[in-house]
Amino acid sequence: MNKISTIQIIDSLAEMTRHHDREILEKSLLKTLDELTTGQEFKLYRVVEAKPKISLALLAYSVNGVIETGGKHTKTHCIFEHLKAGIEAAVLLGSLEQIQNKAGKVTHYIYPAIDHDNEVFAILIQECKETPDLDILRYAHGLLKVYANYLELIDHNERDKLTQLLNRETLDKELIGILIRNNEKNRRRLIKREKNPLGFWLGVVDIDHFKAVNDRFGHLFGDEVLILVARQMKSDIRGDEDLIFRFGGEEFVILLQAYEMKEAKSVFERLRKNIETHEFPQLGHVTVSIGIMQVTNQDSPAEVIACADQAMYYAKEHGRNQIRVYEELLEQGLIEKAPQSPESGDVEFF
Ligand code: GH3
Ligand code: MG
Ligand code: MG
Repeated sequence: MNKISTIQIIDSLAEMTRHHDREILEKSLLKTLDELTTGQEFKLYRVVEAKPKISLALLAYSVNGVIETGGKHTKTHCIFEHLKAGIEAAVLLGSLEQIQNKAGKVTHYIYPAIDHDNEVFAILIQECKETPDLDILRYAHGLLKVYANYLELIDHNERDKLTQLLNRETLDKELIGILIRNNEKNRRRLIKREKNPLGFWLGVVDIDHFKAVNDRFGHLFGDEVLILVARQMKSDIRGDEDLIFRFGGEEFVILLQAYEMKEAKSVFERLRKNIETHEFPQLGHVTVSIGIMQVTNQDSPAEVIACADQAMYYAKEHGRNQIRVYEELLEQGLIEKAPQSPESGDVEFF
């Protein structure tokens, strides 16, 4: 095995930090490790849950020089039974673990990736058929630290400063990803005739009469209410599968995964109810109006948001503090399909 040169290290750092996208960053990390080793396999897992039971999601892996990503929403993976104790120690103690199989022929190294709260948020598993150079171990560990730091920077840029929810730019990125994947899936489904797949629903959530809150208590108090509403909504969705964004002002967007409309509707209904009944200090109660629609193969993120927005405005005009579904309103003839605005500035990508 070759010694790693300083030039190689600088080159790989430059390559890794060139990307501002998590998935590409993860791929780039594994590609770098793969290029510097021979006959070794790397797998990067995100720690979904550490307690009471460790649950991992495969982020990216390298096999025979090919780097693949596990896909953001993939949870299924295969981990050998004999690695379990090592994984547990790496995740819970943050230690680098070494495990040999019974025949002593294959060694696994398990590296923890630690965030600024000192939590292990990911682990890297290296599988070696022969003992690796100590330099490689140090290098992999160091690179994982760079990955953790850089990921934090990306995370910081993806969030809204006031509520710490994901921001509008991130919503666009997520929606584009879903639309592209849906279009690919649609094509495959036509061939496979797959029924009832897992889908995405988008909900636009707008606080009712929020201007009155500012007028009565002041803008700073209003900001506090926004933070509390955000926190309440965040606790109502499944942190791992569903995403919540601050779309602007007192408006939020939630991207929910569900198998059918009924399921999506009941999650939004629970969320609406929980806000309605939440006791806000001094203020008492606030309510929200929600418009939802399924993300299928629309032309652009703007189109999805505009439709959900239309449903949300219908809810506002018909009593507020309620949920309206775009597809249902359309079917019942209560709204008309909005014409696509040519000035919206969005480029159609299908
Ligand atoms: P509706 O039920 O029709 O939604 O009524 P509303 O008063 O909530 O809606 P409107 O669009 O008339 O007013 C929104 C208000 O939200 C006005 C604006 O001052 C306030 N707002 C927007 N962004 C912020 C923010 O970051 N902080 C605070 N405190 N207020 C904000
Ligand atoms: Mg409002
Ligand atoms: Mg509004």
